[in-house]
Amino acid sequence: HSNLNPNYDFENYIEGDCNRLARSAGIAVAEKPGVTSFNPLMVYGGVGLGKTHLIQSIGNKIRRDDKKHFVLYVSSEKFTTQFTDAIKNNSIQSFTNFYLQVDTLIIDDVQFFSGKEKTQEMFFHIFNHLHQSGKQIIMSSDRPPRDLKGLQDRLLSRFKWGLTADLQMPDFETRIAIISRKMESDGIYIPDDVVEYLAYSVDTNVRELEGVLISLIAHATLNKAEINLELAKQTLKNIVHDIESEVGVDYIQKSVGEYFQISVEDLKDKTRKKEIVIARQVAMYLCKEYTNHSLKSIGYHFGGRDHSTVIHAVQSVSDMIEIDTKFCHSMDELKKKMRMKSV
Ligand code: ADP
Ligand code: MG
Repeated sequence: HSNLNPNYDFENYIEGDCNRLARSAGIAVAEKPGVTSFNPLMVYGGVGLGKTHLIQSIGNKIRRDDKKHFVLYVSSEKFTTQFTDAIKNNSIQSFTNFYLQVDTLIIDDVQFFSGKEKTQEMFFHIFNHLHQSGKQIIMSSDRPPRDLKGLQDRLLSRFKWGLTADLQMPDFETRIAIISRKMESDGIYIPDDVVEYLAYSVDTNVRELEGVLISLIAHATLNKAEINLELAKQTLKNIVHDIESEVGVDYIQKSVGEYFQISVEDLKDKTRKKEIVIARQVAMYLCKEYTNHSLKSIGYHFGGRDHSTVIHAVQSVSDMIEIDTKFCHSMDELKKKMRMKSV
């Protein structure tokens, strides 16, 4: 079993300046796996820019051309879990044997190997073995190899043996092509001005662009309305509104204050009273977990404390969760409240 999603192929992977090198290298690899100098092929780019789609397209093409070729697609997280289980179950040998049979190994999101020394050692071993036997290795990462922190140098140096190619956000024309192609395959008609409006407005990543498109179609269907510019604007506004209603520092401070019956002022103040210190640490911990604020910014929102205070708070709360059942229960309740807000 290859774990490939058959819906990802080159046919529906729209080409643009944003992906030209990666896409054509991908096609070359798919035509001659293990033979080109693009071994390993490393594709990198931010979230939702098409890494998984591209590397799975390679796998699907290889399999379509040669049924006997053993392609395996696996995320680095799944690889890690399998490896950890193998250690627990004393089955490292069969884990290794399985991976050494693969003809093309596709590993998605290798940044998650960061800090996992034993897993990296295992992957290093498999990588070397496959590469020496002329097997193809394909990887994706959310950043270029040079910026991958927590990965061993010997592994990083191997990542650079083949070709490293990046994916960027598609430009306006390519975004139009992506929307049109998607509408065509779903058999849905959207007027040109709406397609242009969406392509113009959503410049973050392709997944988000698809998300807006899905919401728009859902709105139209539910309200039995036609898809027009007005509805598109309304849909986009609702989505932006959703983003604004996500969990923020204010919401966390208010919730934690209510929970511990402490004022928000006290949370931000210098008071060192034990109950207040704990509540403050809990609030900092939740900010770290549920917002995108940096440690520095979190400290700033708690009366101008520095980032090391926040690190200490996060650590203390993590420790208490482990050793104190009653505290752990309180944290579960607060976390539940955070999750309810973000849906
Ligand atoms: P990543 O793995 O980089 O987070 P994905 O491969 O999951 O991103 O892509 C997100 C979504 O955008 C998928 O539904 C994918 O099919 C679509 N997508 C991305 N790039 C393209 C493209 N060039 N042409 C068509 N669809 C694309
Ligand atoms: Mg992905």
